[in-house]
Amino acid sequence: MYQKRFRTEGDVAVVTGGGRGIGLCSAEALAESGARVVIVERDETVGRAGLEALLAAGHQAELIVGDVTSSARMTEIADELAARGKAASILINNAGIGRGGVPSQDVGDAEWLETMDVNVNGVFWCSRAFGRHMIAAGRGSIVNLGSMSGTIANRPQPQTPYNVSKAAVHHMTRSMAAEWAPHGVRVNAVAPTYIETLMVTANPENAKRMEAWLHDTPMGRMGQAFEVASAVLFLASEASSLMTGAIVPVDAGYTCW
Ligand code: NDP
Repeated sequence: MYQKRFRTEGDVAVVTGGGRGIGLCSAEALAESGARVVIVERDETVGRAGLEALLAAGHQAELIVGDVTSSARMTEIADELAARGKAASILINNAGIGRGGVPSQDVGDAEWLETMDVNVNGVFWCSRAFGRHMIAAGRGSIVNLGSMSGTIANRPQPQTPYNVSKAAVHHMTRSMAAEWAPHGVRVNAVAPTYIETLMVTANPENAKRMEAWLHDTPMGRMGQAFEVASAVLFLASEASSLMTGAIVPVDAGYTCW
């Protein structure tokens, strides 16, 4: 009985930013558990690489190109899937950006606005567009990628725009969870620590900060994308059927103290 509760056969799972990193691992976890996966990526090349990895492993998957900052495009994708009889029953709001390293007094307007556009507006546009179909169907599960930075003002680098955007994601999770529970739609979030993906490794400054950060991490290590994906699968599936509005730390104990 318990293993069956992690199965997602019959579900259509949309994963934004599913072409690489945590999104791709989440897509793999959901596909492995039986879901048909739809990757939504703004960059076709990135999306195609992820899609090919899923298809090569024998999974059911497709790629739709779209930028989560476009409310109209997200509505179009949600409606088109529903019109094909493949309305999403699972949505993983994974697409996100984060640079960091700039003190608040030096953050430019463009960095602030772009971070909010992708990390906050994008999550809202997708949740609203796909959520409408879940409400109509009377069931659905949304998992948002929050961050430990949405819970604490994380050290060792300044990153106010990112922290604020992820705090907004955490509160959006609770707000929608409370509203949509009577409609059979659950909304939860994971709040990871530093995970070894391009988002972190592409910035050489992060390597310099890592020693201080590891010192403050009870488990003494950063995480891997598959370790976040396991939590995403748990929250997306019926295994977490009594959970909604939860912000689940996947952070090696970082927020324990
Ligand atoms: P990556 O940068 O490796 O992957 C993010 C993916 O999202 C990329 O494929 C990217 O595509 C895509 N994306 C970005 N913006 C958009 C957009 N506007 N529309 C559609 N797709 C978009 O990041 P991670 O896998 O590390 O992060 C995934 C999520 O997890 C993010 O929300 C992040 O904030 C969160 N997270 C990550 C942590 C980490 O340490 N890595 C820690 C805590 C949370 P493109 O190539 O076009 O940019």
